[in-house]
Amino acid sequence: MGKIILVVLGLLLVWWILKSYRRRVDGGGTRPPTGAGEDMVRCEQCGVHLPRSESIAAQGRFFCSAEHQREHQSRWSP
Ligand SMILES: [Zn+2]
Repeated sequence: MGKIILVVLGLLLVWWILKSYRRRVDGGGTRPPTGAGEDMVRCEQCGVHLPRSESIAAQGRFFCSAEHQREHQSRWSP
């Protein structure tokens, strides 16, 4: 009898973990940005995220520093 209860509890646990995991995956992408925070942009060279006001914009791309802007341009220009 005790064994059956353990099995049922185990199944419930697995079901609960799957359910909470799926909810976390679903909610992750659709969550709206919180607060009145600044736009975050991504450096095209190293991929770091930083506030738009601290980034360097060039040709519609953003960079964390002038150095990375130069590196990116020298890499992608012929
Ligand atoms: Zn960078």
